[in-house]
Parts: sequence; structure tokens; C-alpha cells
Amino acid sequence: VERVSVPAVALAVANTAGKSRLLTFLTRNHGKVRLFTRQPTRLNPPKTFIEAVQGGELSYLSPCDNEPGRLVAFVPQRVWPGIREDFTRIVQALAFIEVVNVCATEAEPQPLLFDLLLRFLDHIERDERPETIRLVCTLQLLRIAGFAPHLDTCLACDREIAPTGRALLSAEEGGMVCPSCAPGRRERLLPVTPAALGFMVRALGLPETHLRRLRANAATVGEVSRLLNAFVEFRVDSRLHAGAFLDAMRGR
Ligand SMILES: [Zn+2]
Repeated sequence: VERVSVPAVALAVANTAGKSRLLTFLTRNHGKVRLFTRQPTRLNPPKTFIEAVQGGELSYLSPCDNEPGRLVAFVPQRVWPGIREDFTRIVQALAFIEVVNVCATEAEPQPLLFDLLLRFLDHIERDERPETIRLVCTLQLLRIAGFAPHLDTCLACDREIAPTGRALLSAEEGGMVCPSCAPGRRERLLPVTPAALGFMVRALGLPETHLRRLRANAATVGEVSRLLNAFVEFRVDSRLHAGAFLDAMRGR
């Protein structure tokens, strides 16, 4: 059994069957790490209070021979108080972290994803538009994970998608379908307004230093959020609870 010590961000804490807890972390060099630990009890209180949106030094015994990995210690060093103390920000942070959790792979380096997560948390701690930041970072995360939506041409006829016209998104095929090809498609297609398409194209195309110029009104932000939730849910075949919560609060 190898003992590993690495910087990590806690993604999720879940009580599992029996008396154990499953802790999920993202690390730069070992990707997603899932560790079991004993559920704290009154007689056996936790040494550290671990919850999502904490960054710090993680020590664990790596999994081997069908034995799951075991937590040795987690020392929180960054807790982003500006996020924790603000309901809008913590909800956005949890929604993004949920997508990180379902997209990150285990046991391989994920430096781009790890750095994106840190930049995202630093950014939304002070930015006045936490949801816009979440959507931009979600698109960048999809690109890093290798399944960014294909936005410039129709996946059926290969013609350019007009930035001013109506088009549809196929979560199943991972890209846009033009209005002429739409009637022949069998999969579910989500209508995309020009404003939402323009936002996603710019978010994927702009260099990071220019992203603060990316603006969108509330309707476009809501639309892109719903589109990306549907897209990610289809790609990873799992339900996004925080994303669904945000869309429900907004009222579909
Ligand atoms: Zn087409």
C-alpha cells in the first residue's frame, strides 16, 4: 500500500451503507480520488470537519487488491469564505463541483481540470456574476474532458450554423442541428436562441483574459444553464441535482 500526500479539493461527502463515509476529492496528479472513512459518531468525533468546497493537503493510502483507498488525513488550507457565506455563490459552486465530480476520471493526472476548478473557485468568490462564470467554466470543463458541444456546423449536413438564426442542440450527438435537418432526427432536440448560441461560442473561443467581457442577460443565462445541464446529463448518463435545483428555482 502506497501512502500519497497531494493538494486536493473536496468534491463530495456521502454516507454509505454501514458505518462508512465516501469522500471524493480532485487532485492534480491522481485525478479523482474516492476514499472511505468511518462515519463520525458522538463517541468517535471526526478529527477534521470535511465538506465540499475545501482545498488542502490530502494524505491517503492508495487502493490496492480490491481494497478501497483509505483516508489518512485532510488538512484544509483554503475554504473560500466568500463562497460559503453567500447563498448564491455556494449554490453555483456546488453545481459546478457536481459536474467536475461526474466528469473527472480516476487514477490519471488531471492538471487542467484541477487548475480550472481552483480558478473557478477563486473567481466566483469575488465576481458579481457567479452564474455566468459557472457556465463559462462548465464549457471549458467539457472541452478539457473531450466533449465540448460542437457548435459551428450542423452535425447532419455539415453546413455552417447561422449565428442569427434558430438552431437545435442534440445532447445525444453532442452538437448542433440546423432547422432543415431537424425534422428527420429521431433524438430529442433542444431549441437554442441566437443569444445562447453566441454566448456558448464566445465562451469556448475567447482567451481567458477576455472572459470578463462576456455578458449575458438573465434569460440567456437561464437558457444556457438548462442547455448545459441537459447536455452534461446526457453525456455522463447521470442526473445533476444542483443543476436541476438551480433551474427549478428559476422556474422553467
Ligand atoms: Zn443540417
